[in-house]
Amino acid sequence: MGDLLNAVKKDIGHFKCPTHGEMPKISVSGDKLNMTTCCDEFSKTLQIKMNKSVENFTKKSMDNIFKKMGKR
Ligand SMILES: [Zn+2]
Repeated sequence: MGDLLNAVKKDIGHFKCPTHGEMPKISVSGDKLNMTTCCDEFSKTLQIKMNKSVENFTKKSMDNIFKKMGKR
């Protein structure tokens, strides 16, 4: 979970709200990623990016698993 958090932070953590100039706060609670933003509008924009980020991370993880399997 920590790896995913880092990946998502790297992907979207540097975005700033165009209206308020605030950066999102991303954390993990249980097995879910939590994102705190200054407003709903920014949250909506980031949610899409975050989903993409999670998707990419999952894909990469799967690739790594397959690569490891191939080596055995
Ligand atoms: Zn905002």
